[in-house]
Amino acid sequence: MPPSSPTSEAEQPEVLVVAKLWPPMMESLRGAFRVHDRIHQTDPTAFAAVAPRIRAISASGESKVPRELIAQLPALEIISVFGVGYDGVDVAAARERGIPVTNTPDVLNDEVADLAIALVLSISRRIPQADRYVREGQWANGPMPLARKVSGARLGIVGLGRIGNAIAKRAEAFGMSIAYTSRSARPESSYRYFPSAEALAAEVDFLVVITPGGAGTRKLIDAKVLKALGKDGYLINVARGSVVDEAALIEALQNGTIAGAGLDVFENEPNVPAALIALDNVVLTPHVGSATWQTRRAMADRAFGNLEAHFAGKPLLSPVP
Ligand code: NAP
Repeated sequence: MPPSSPTSEAEQPEVLVVAKLWPPMMESLRGAFRVHDRIHQTDPTAFAAVAPRIRAISASGESKVPRELIAQLPALEIISVFGVGYDGVDVAAARERGIPVTNTPDVLNDEVADLAIALVLSISRRIPQADRYVREGQWANGPMPLARKVSGARLGIVGLGRIGNAIAKRAEAFGMSIAYTSRSARPESSYRYFPSAEALAAEVDFLVVITPGGAGTRKLIDAKVLKALGKDGYLINVARGSVVDEAALIEALQNGTIAGAGLDVFENEPNVPAALIALDNVVLTPHVGSATWQTRRAMADRAFGNLEAHFAGKPLLSPVP
């Protein structure tokens, strides 16, 4: 993507990149801006020298943009997040300074919903375990233990937003009955509403978590919710690691309080507790909800497009509310 108008390097707005971004996104940024890649972490002296000139932050969905960092950037005008989740950004601190925060909603709905369904199928039909069964030559010793049927099962969605609805649409094709919880019921939705995750968990076979992260959802899925989900229930988390009490989940998986879990996100990424890795009744993926070439391209276009719009004096494509 070329910059909106050719400018000499000295005139280019200076951008602080605060995460390891997808290389094509970095290429777009470098084509239009003077980019300082994570120097606030690696080179405090260089950072101190450029901080007064930084006009934009380019972040990922997992980035931390705390109040202290924002305070060090007096010329900051915009924070663009490459991702839909922006729980690591201190939006209140940005708002106090009139600095807009943008994210990349909608363009990744299909991808994350696909992965959620893939995890439902993987954990219930034991696809990774079946693959290992064949590779390890165990088939010759007899068939695998039977799995759990997905079609027609009861699915509960914690957070019926953009992605939650995309998951529900897919689950409908599997003939699943669908229910959900969120802070407020969606009158436009035909799915059954439950006022809490615990009440929802008690009524479903698969509980899929797809809320935002942050303080409002921290450990929303706790020991009580897992107990309600029960010994035949499965937990799928494609939201944020912070939404699930990981210690309680490990205990529930070890004790058979729930049947299994499919997890794309973890409390302390990229570190996954050894206790989870040791379990056979989990399927683990490394936060790859949106990780395809097609969707990352669309996210990069949106994240870059927000910066481009800002510096061209045009309306932002997707400011967070
Ligand atoms: P969204 O449209 O804003 O939907 C979020 C939903 O969560 C809403 O229905 C909201 O309803 C509900 N919610 C918020 N707080 C809640 C709470 N305390 N209890 C229960 N429900 C609550 O967001 P989205 O675009 O679908 O994205 C959702 C999240 O998915 C992102 O924020 C991100 O963390 C995660 N995500 C993960 C990946 C991945 O790679 N695994 C990729 C993309 C996104 P109410 O406001 O009525 O409560």
